Amino acid sequence: MLLPVALLNSLQNVLGFDQEAFEKVHQSGEQITSIRRNPNKIFNNQYSIFNDQLEQVPWNPNGYYLPERPSFTLDPLFHAGAYYVQEASSMFLEEALKQTVDLSQPIKVLDLCAAPGGKSTLLQSLISDKSLLVSNEVIKTRVNILSENITKWGATNVIVTNNDPKDFQRLRNYFDVIVVDAPCSGSGLFRKDTEAINEWSEQNVELCGQRQQRILADIIPSLKDGGTLIYSTCSYSETEDEEIADWVVEELEVGSLKLEVDGNWGIVETQSKKNNAFGYRFYPNKVKGEGFFIAAFTKKKTLDEAFQEKFKKGKSERLTAKEIEVVKTYLKNPSDFFFIKQKDEVIALPSHLEQDLATIQSSLYIKKAGIKLGTIIRDELIPDHELALGTIVKEKVPSVEVDKETALQYLRKQEIKIDFDKRGWSLLTYNQLPLGWVKVLHNRVNNYYPANWRILNK
Ligand code: SAM
Repeated sequence: MLLPVALLNSLQNVLGFDQEAFEKVHQSGEQITSIRRNPNKIFNNQYSIFNDQLEQVPWNPNGYYLPERPSFTLDPLFHAGAYYVQEASSMFLEEALKQTVDLSQPIKVLDLCAAPGGKSTLLQSLISDKSLLVSNEVIKTRVNILSENITKWGATNVIVTNNDPKDFQRLRNYFDVIVVDAPCSGSGLFRKDTEAINEWSEQNVELCGQRQQRILADIIPSLKDGGTLIYSTCSYSETEDEEIADWVVEELEVGSLKLEVDGNWGIVETQSKKNNAFGYRFYPNKVKGEGFFIAAFTKKKTLDEAFQEKFKKGKSERLTAKEIEVVKTYLKNPSDFFFIKQKDEVIALPSHLEQDLATIQSSLYIKKAGIKLGTIIRDELIPDHELALGTIVKEKVPSVEVDKETALQYLRKQEIKIDFDKRGWSLLTYNQLPLGWVKVLHNRVNNYYPANWRILNK
């Protein structure tokens, strides 16, 4: 693997860079696989690819290294949202937030560059139930995979949006935390994705730096005074890392935050040249993970205090009392939610987010909010897949546990046979975690796994 000479040259004076070790680790061919568990979907280890001896990611209590990369597609627990396959260095976001934000409080968090959802699922696991996560992706074709991963994660307090960063200027002083995991030149992933080496150029690093500045300038008005901004990239270039941190401190009226890092973790703390802004570098020859950079800031004052946001009311319909009774039979704690109906589909969101939904709806394009429960037809709920994967579904809803082979047939949307005599809607579970819905009829079982999610892998 030949690394770009221009990149190696540009890193000569960067703190922590050791060319020999850096080149060696890229040439070693070593691949690291790590996953992060979903703390809301605890499962029995004996059925899974995990066991108690797995090595833990040092900076994340839910992160584990796997000894080799299994076929995740053929593990039903992957489809049940029991874990997310995430590169280990980027799981440090958890530590950065724990040190800079009071996570026990109800907070509003924006993950601005969210697809495919690694940071968003981590953020959702960190915030309290009373908090809100807005998970945004500007590129339309990437919003679907983001929604899919959020659906699998199963939480109600997430709204997925599809907006340009500048659209958030309509939400002045709104978020307590904004995470900008910026699009970048991608050198940090060279070991995992050798194709990226051919796409790398100094010119692209420059273009990425300019785009990162634009994104940050666009988004800063929507951060509250005293709010936390987290900026990260998977690039080694100072132009996209320390120089951006420098620019942020200078131009956006934010202060840099220093993080405490355990000396055994191999993470390198740097400071930017002009303003001494702190940054944290992950080199694959020093940590068990890929290249990553992260920096934390706090907003000092409002840029435009005169701005007064006027929120329009959302256009959603309310449910009738009868309809509420129907959906209640499926939910663990129905009184914790408010329900809305959009084009006959019923959606549940936590009661305390009612005003936030109206606010966000008036300003942004919402792709997904809360959990879709299904459609009510003649006083019956046709349950949606989101409800099956949501952590709000009642334990008493009929369910049928299946073995791995049947689970995979179901996930391939094939015909399945189960020994179950209760007619009607039922959850299909594997290792007690729901995979989706089936409808049991007198002579067959209808498979309601979403066609566009089905696995094609044999
Ligand atoms: N945070 C994601 C995760 O952990 O799974 C990865 C995000 S990736 C590094 C950067 C994202 O920024 C991509 O999804 C990309 O589509 C999006 N993006 C590209 N151009 C953008 C722009 N001009 N403004 C905001 N986001 C952009």
